[in-house]
Amino acid sequence: MVFPFGNIKDFSITLTDEEELFRKTVRQFVDNEVMPRVVEVEKSGEIPEDLIQKGVEMGFTGVGIPEEYDGQGGGTLLTAILMEELSRALPAYGTGLLVNGLFTYPVLRYGTEEQKKKYIPPVARGEVFAAHASTEPAAGSDVAGIQTTAEKKGDKYIINGRKIFITGADKAKYFVVSARTNPPPDKRKRWWGITVFIVERDWPGVEVGSRFDVMGLTGEHPSEVILDNVEVPEENIIPPKDEGFKILLDTYDHSRVGIAAQAVGIAQGAFEKAFNYSLQRTAFGRQIIAFEGVSFKLADMLTEIQAARLLTYWAATLADQGREEAVFAASMAKTFATEVAERVANLAIKIHGGVGVDKETGVEHYLRDAVITTIYEGTNDIQRLTTIRQLLKKTLGIDVLIR
Ligand SMILES: Cc1cc2nc3c(=O)[nH]c(=O)nc-3n(C[C@H](O)[C@H](O)[C@H](O)COP(=O)(O)OP(=O)(O)OC[C@H]3O[C@@H](n4cnc5c(N)ncnc54)[C@H](O)[C@@H]3O)c2cc1C
Repeated sequence: MVFPFGNIKDFSITLTDEEELFRKTVRQFVDNEVMPRVVEVEKSGEIPEDLIQKGVEMGFTGVGIPEEYDGQGGGTLLTAILMEELSRALPAYGTGLLVNGLFTYPVLRYGTEEQKKKYIPPVARGEVFAAHASTEPAAGSDVAGIQTTAEKKGDKYIINGRKIFITGADKAKYFVVSARTNPPPDKRKRWWGITVFIVERDWPGVEVGSRFDVMGLTGEHPSEVILDNVEVPEENIIPPKDEGFKILLDTYDHSRVGIAAQAVGIAQGAFEKAFNYSLQRTAFGRQIIAFEGVSFKLADMLTEIQAARLLTYWAATLADQGREEAVFAASMAKTFATEVAERVANLAIKIHGGVGVDKETGVEHYLRDAVITTIYEGTNDIQRLTTIRQLLKKTLGIDVLIR
């Protein structure tokens, strides 16, 4: 036994030849199609439509979605490999193609068969995009603190509220939206009374408002979503009603493995650039890799990346096995990998010297992107709270709601 886990075999990660083949295919696509366009995206602030379409044609929007709903199949691990490889070049591209998962996961896991049949296949095929609208001006980490309301009127619900920082909202046709359908019974059960709805962009009262001009993930601008007396049919509730908080937390427990993978990709991309540069650049008559000040940085970067990748693949493996410890592992992986990405990206800039801060070099964006990974889908403070909560639950059986 390795405290607090039950068995040393809990740490096993098994990868298949298919997964390796998939990784190679994605990497080749990224090297040919995405890498050459990174600077263009950083300068224009937009991901070109043809690049999005190429990703759709490769089937990336269907990865992690069962074939019966027109997906490509595969689970958390395969999705993590995809996210890592896309983020190695352009993390915003990974976010843009895979943010759909924040919509498809709750629908596939909790939705009715009608909801799955109607909403999943077009998203899996990449014909439409979807987004996840939960954060509000007064409630981010505090998911139970949302103020959006959904009031029952006949067989419909009328939703009013304002969501902010919604990734992919500008191109989304479908949203999952959290809203309060009932007041909480008491202070200790604040989470109760929240319901998750599927809302369509075309419905009257749905407005995608201004974009947020964020420091990183250039090209993938989150936007505000305003819901003004939006009529939503009762059948668009993702059941169970009033227990949507649990659906939201389960969604984030699952999706944060993807953010850990994105961070591994960021770190890997920054490392490869720094390593190549250290071989090309000479100073004082030598390649700069010959200086310990450079080579020791590279050694530490590589060590941290491998540790982050192991944690991430381990979390993904546990998630695919449906293990309870997956929540624990995902929080640890997200915290560690995103902070490794920050450190590695920062060191990669330093190894490049002056050109490291020149946007044309295409390395400084990794640091700006990495900072966002430490914040979205649950800040690392919240991940640390989750880790401690899971530890207390596993070792003492105490279930404290501290997230
Ligand atoms: C680029 C980007 C994209 C996003 N995309 C989406 C999206 O698609 N959909 C969506 O719904 N949301 C999205 N978000 C919102 C994101 O999930 C929230 O920003 C995040 O959860 C933090 O919430 P907050 O911004 O309200 O910060 P707050 O919750 O106000 O936190 C502020 C600070 O206080 C700390 N803190 C808060 N509570 C605690 C606590 N209990 N213990 C310790 N520290 C605490 C936090 O760690 C943080 O440092 C996105 C955000 C960004 C930046």
